Amino acid sequence: MQALLDELETTFETYKNDSEFLEEYQHYLKDYSGRETPLYFAESLINHLGGAKIYLKREDLNHLGSHKLNNVLGQILLAKRMGKCVIAEIGAGQHGVATAAAAPRFGMECDVYMGAEDVERQRLNVFRMEMMGARVHAVTEGTATLKEAVDAAFGAWMADLDAFFVLGSAVGPHPYPSIVHEFQKVISIESRRQILEIEGRLPDLVIACVGGGSNAIGVFSQYVNDAEVGLVGVEAAGRGVDTDKHAATMTKGTVGIVDGMKTIALFKENGEIAPVYSISAGLDYPGVGPEHAFFKESGRVEYVSARDAEAVEALLTLSKTEGILPAIESSHAIAEAIKRAPLMDKEQIIIVNVSGRGDKDVVAVADYLEK
Ligand SMILES: *Cc1c(COP(=O)(O)O)cnc(C)c1O
Repeated sequence: MQALLDELETTFETYKNDSEFLEEYQHYLKDYSGRETPLYFAESLINHLGGAKIYLKREDLNHLGSHKLNNVLGQILLAKRMGKCVIAEIGAGQHGVATAAAAPRFGMECDVYMGAEDVERQRLNVFRMEMMGARVHAVTEGTATLKEAVDAAFGAWMADLDAFFVLGSAVGPHPYPSIVHEFQKVISIESRRQILEIEGRLPDLVIACVGGGSNAIGVFSQYVNDAEVGLVGVEAAGRGVDTDKHAATMTKGTVGIVDGMKTIALFKENGEIAPVYSISAGLDYPGVGPEHAFFKESGRVEYVSARDAEAVEALLTLSKTEGILPAIESSHAIAEAIKRAPLMDKEQIIIVNVSGRGDKDVVAVADYLEK
């Protein structure tokens, strides 16, 4: 395993500043994914709330509906440089779909490992991946969910010299969190230039939801050294941080080892990883990327949480005021903007990262509202 990670690190260091590699990456970001994404002035939402100006970074307008493709394209281009022809993949919703879509474009096969339980729960995404030619393997061991799927995917990676493991968030062993940061920083490279063009100054606040932390790292990246820009990460509080149904890693977690990284995570008393819950599958993760753990300890980023009910309400508010249906993950960040904007001056500026679109969540939200 360490040899595979070392090989990946060497490749990444070789190509991350290579002009030919970057040109190819930029080409796919532009013509395949549809970048740059707009920075949209949400005037109707602002009129509804009062207070600060709100700009939405529209990552939901990427091909396949989220920020995930920024990173998948970068990693697949690295795989291509390494001569790999099989992609090993864990079947987490949006990331699995983005990988299954991009793999055939580069002549690669895609094996997706998914817990048998999740195969059942995510039928639509399973069909989408299979239509694009991916082989979806239902993993039946143990509880047949994410943990067993991770083990199976890592096993497949180590057993096959032609395989490349595409990781979907800013988590896992080095160099993955650095790679994911590198390929998601395009979000803030664009938003920084856009806000300077529109407003002539930097924002007062940048807000993003935090699952593993990739969209947040991407939209924070270029502001980290601007002390006047406040950075806020929003985790899933599920039914509430004082219940046992949440995924508020930063609020409730402790330092430990999870998925090959030392970071902050939620553990049971016996030291095992705690079960987590959120209405949003993308935020339903017991750990967080190590760079976020660092930003929490250094105080550079403030981490807060939003409950299911607050996220659903924010989703409806943005839909009703702007006609933009955000992903339930992104709605956690919007909920924080809705709390803060009315308390701020009308000349102040908030950028919210809309990490994805909400079409995938329509049924879940309808079910939630029925109950
Ligand atoms: C996967 C996903 C997330 C959570 O992942 P991060 O790595 O924390 O960004 C957030 N929003 C959307 C739309 C997603 O698909």
